[in-house]
Amino acid sequence: MQVRFLPRAPTKIKNLKLKVTIMVTIKDISGTEHNIDCIACSIQSGEVSLPVERIAETEYFVAEQDFEYPIEGFVIIASKRHVKSILEFTDAEQTDLCRFLIKCRRAMKEKLGIDEITIVQEEPSSSSHFHVWMFPWHSWMFEYKRKVNNVMKIMDFAKEEYSNEFELIKIRESTKKLKEYFV
Ligand SMILES: [Zn+2]
Repeated sequence: MQVRFLPRAPTKIKNLKLKVTIMVTIKDISGTEHNIDCIACSIQSGEVSLPVERIAETEYFVAEQDFEYPIEGFVIIASKRHVKSILEFTDAEQTDLCRFLIKCRRAMKEKLGIDEITIVQEEPSSSSHFHVWMFPWHSWMFEYKRKVNNVMKIMDFAKEEYSNEFELIKIRESTKKLKEYFV
Protein backbone atom coordinates (compact mmCIF):
# COMPACT_ATOMS: atom_id res chain seq x y z
CA MET A 1 0.00 0.00 0.00
CA GLN A 2 1.30 3.39 -0.95
CA VAL A 3 1.03 6.16 1.57
CA ARG A 4 0.75 9.63 0.23
CA PHE A 5 1.25 12.73 2.28
CA LEU A 6 -0.97 15.52 1.25
CA PRO A 7 -0.22 19.10 2.13
CA ARG A 8 -2.21 20.03 5.15
CA ALA A 9 -4.77 22.70 4.81
CA PRO A 10 -4.58 25.33 7.52
CA THR A 11 -7.25 24.58 10.07
CA LYS A 12 -7.04 27.73 12.08
CA ILE A 13 -5.72 31.17 11.28
CA LYS A 14 -5.14 33.20 14.36
CA ASN A 15 -5.01 36.97 14.59
CA LEU A 16 -5.21 37.48 10.88
CA LYS A 17 -6.15 41.04 10.12
CA LEU A 18 -6.44 42.19 6.58
CA LYS A 19 -5.95 45.87 5.98
CA VAL A 20 -7.04 46.97 2.56
CA THR A 21 -5.19 50.12 1.64
CA ILE A 22 -6.26 52.18 -1.28
CA MET A 23 -3.71 54.79 -2.22
CA VAL A 24 -4.87 57.98 -3.85
CA THR A 25 -2.80 60.64 -5.52
CA ILE A 26 -3.73 64.17 -4.57
CA LYS A 27 -2.28 67.33 -6.06
CA ASP A 28 -2.35 70.23 -3.59
CA ILE A 29 -2.90 73.90 -4.47
CA SER A 30 0.84 74.51 -4.73
CA GLY A 31 1.06 71.76 -7.39
CA THR A 32 2.77 69.17 -5.16
CA GLU A 33 1.54 65.58 -5.52
CA HIS A 34 1.00 63.28 -2.53
CA ASN A 35 0.33 59.52 -2.49
CA ILE A 36 -1.76 58.79 0.57
CA ASP A 37 -4.33 56.31 1.83
CA CYS A 38 -6.20 58.64 4.20
CA ILE A 39 -5.91 62.38 3.60
CA ALA A 40 -6.91 63.45 7.10
CA CYS A 41 -4.56 60.96 8.81
CA SER A 42 -1.68 61.95 6.53
CA ILE A 43 -2.15 65.65 7.26
CA GLN A 44 -2.57 65.21 10.99
CA SER A 45 0.44 62.92 11.34
CA GLY A 46 2.59 65.40 9.45
CA GLU A 47 3.28 62.89 6.64
CA VAL A 48 1.90 65.48 4.25
CA SER A 49 2.72 69.11 4.86
CA LEU A 50 0.16 71.55 3.59
CA PRO A 51 0.96 74.68 1.58
CA VAL A 52 -1.20 76.70 4.01
CA GLU A 53 -1.36 76.97 7.81
CA ARG A 54 -3.90 75.12 9.95
CA ILE A 55 -6.85 77.34 10.85
CA ALA A 56 -7.74 75.92 14.24
CA GLU A 57 -8.09 72.76 16.29
CA THR A 58 -9.95 71.44 19.30
CA GLU A 59 -9.32 68.33 21.36
CA TYR A 60 -11.12 66.20 18.76
CA PHE A 61 -11.19 68.10 15.44
CA VAL A 62 -9.05 70.20 13.11
CA ALA A 63 -10.08 72.92 10.66
CA GLU A 64 -7.97 73.41 7.55
CA GLN A 65 -8.28 75.37 4.32
CA ASP A 66 -9.05 72.81 1.60
CA PHE A 67 -5.66 71.97 0.14
CA GLU A 68 -6.75 70.70 -3.25
CA TYR A 69 -9.07 73.41 -4.51
CA PRO A 70 -7.95 77.05 -4.65
CA ILE A 71 -11.08 78.61 -3.18
CA GLU A 72 -10.63 81.16 -0.37
CA GLY A 73 -12.33 80.21 2.87
CA PHE A 74 -13.15 76.66 1.76
CA VAL A 75 -12.89 75.14 5.23
CA ILE A 76 -12.60 71.43 5.95
CA ILE A 77 -13.25 70.12 9.43
CA ALA A 78 -11.85 66.64 10.08
CA SER A 79 -11.95 64.41 13.14
CA LYS A 80 -8.66 63.53 14.82
CA ARG A 81 -9.75 59.90 15.15
CA HIS A 82 -9.82 57.67 12.07
CA VAL A 83 -13.57 57.11 12.03
CA LYS A 84 -15.91 57.28 9.11
CA SER A 85 -19.23 58.37 10.46
CA ILE A 86 -20.87 60.55 13.10
CA LEU A 87 -22.35 57.27 14.33
CA GLU A 88 -18.95 56.52 15.88
CA PHE A 89 -18.59 59.76 17.83
CA THR A 90 -18.46 59.87 21.59
CA ASP A 91 -20.69 62.32 23.46
CA ALA A 92 -17.72 64.66 23.86
CA GLU A 93 -16.97 64.56 20.11
CA GLN A 94 -20.61 65.24 19.23
CA THR A 95 -20.71 68.37 21.38
CA ASP A 96 -17.28 69.52 20.26
CA LEU A 97 -18.12 69.14 16.55
CA CYS A 98 -21.29 71.15 16.83
CA ARG A 99 -19.57 74.02 18.64
CA PHE A 100 -16.54 73.96 16.36
CA LEU A 101 -18.66 73.91 13.21
CA ILE A 102 -20.55 77.00 14.32
CA LYS A 103 -17.36 78.78 15.40
CA CYS A 104 -15.77 78.10 12.00
CA ARG A 105 -18.91 79.40 10.31
CA ARG A 106 -18.71 82.60 12.40
CA ALA A 107 -15.04 83.00 11.47
CA MET A 108 -15.91 82.71 7.77
CA LYS A 109 -18.58 85.39 8.15
CA GLU A 110 -16.64 87.80 10.35
CA LYS A 111 -13.17 87.48 8.84
CA LEU A 112 -13.96 86.88 5.16
CA GLY A 113 -17.51 88.27 4.85
CA ILE A 114 -18.89 84.98 3.57
CA ASP A 115 -22.69 85.27 3.71
CA GLU A 116 -23.71 81.80 2.58
CA ILE A 117 -22.14 78.36 2.63
CA THR A 118 -23.05 74.78 1.72
CA ILE A 119 -22.10 72.02 4.14
CA VAL A 120 -21.32 68.55 2.74
CA GLN A 121 -20.34 65.37 4.58
CA GLU A 122 -19.76 62.18 2.61
CA GLU A 123 -19.55 58.95 4.58
CA PRO A 124 -18.59 56.92 1.49
CA SER A 125 -15.45 58.99 0.93
CA SER A 126 -12.69 56.74 -0.38
CA SER A 127 -9.85 59.18 0.28
CA SER A 128 -10.28 60.35 3.87
CA HIS A 129 -11.86 59.62 7.22
CA PHE A 130 -14.62 61.81 8.66
CA HIS A 131 -14.59 65.35 7.32
CA VAL A 132 -17.05 68.12 6.57
CA TRP A 133 -16.84 70.56 3.69
CA MET A 134 -17.82 74.14 4.47
CA PHE A 135 -18.09 75.45 0.95
CA PRO A 136 -18.23 79.28 0.67
CA TRP A 137 -20.29 81.05 -1.96
CA HIS A 138 -18.29 83.94 -3.43
CA SER A 139 -19.47 86.66 -5.80
CA TRP A 140 -17.18 85.32 -8.57
CA MET A 141 -19.37 82.18 -8.64
CA PHE A 142 -22.36 84.26 -9.87
CA GLU A 143 -22.87 82.14 -12.98
CA TYR A 144 -23.79 79.15 -10.84
CA LYS A 145 -27.00 78.79 -8.84
CA ARG A 146 -26.23 78.30 -5.16
CA LYS A 147 -27.15 74.62 -5.17
CA VAL A 148 -25.22 71.62 -3.91
CA ASN A 149 -25.04 70.08 -7.41
CA ASN A 150 -22.94 73.05 -8.53
CA VAL A 151 -20.37 72.74 -5.75
CA MET A 152 -18.23 70.14 -7.57
CA LYS A 153 -18.50 72.05 -10.85
CA ILE A 154 -17.11 75.19 -9.19
CA MET A 155 -14.38 73.21 -7.44
CA ASP A 156 -13.27 71.76 -10.79
CA PHE A 157 -13.46 75.21 -12.39
CA ALA A 158 -11.33 76.73 -9.61
CA LYS A 159 -8.73 73.97 -9.91
CA GLU A 160 -8.51 74.53 -13.64
CA GLU A 161 -8.45 78.33 -13.60
CA TYR A 162 -6.98 79.38 -10.26
CA SER A 163 -4.13 76.96 -9.62
CA ASN A 164 -1.37 79.55 -9.62
CA GLU A 165 1.02 81.32 -7.27
CA PHE A 166 -1.08 84.49 -7.07
CA GLU A 167 -4.16 82.60 -5.83
CA LEU A 168 -2.02 80.62 -3.40
CA ILE A 169 -0.84 83.87 -1.81
CA LYS A 170 -4.46 85.05 -1.52
CA ILE A 171 -5.45 81.76 0.10
CA ARG A 172 -2.56 81.97 2.56
CA GLU A 173 -3.77 85.46 3.54
CA SER A 174 -7.41 84.44 3.95
CA THR A 175 -6.36 81.40 6.01
CA LYS A 176 -4.32 83.66 8.28
CA LYS A 177 -7.39 85.87 8.81
CA LEU A 178 -9.53 82.86 9.73
CA LYS A 179 -6.81 81.72 12.12
CA GLU A 180 -6.89 85.09 13.91
CA TYR A 181 -10.53 84.50 14.86
CA PHE A 182 -9.48 81.59 17.08
CA VAL A 183 -6.66 83.35 18.93
ZN1 LIG B 1 -7.72 58.53 8.70
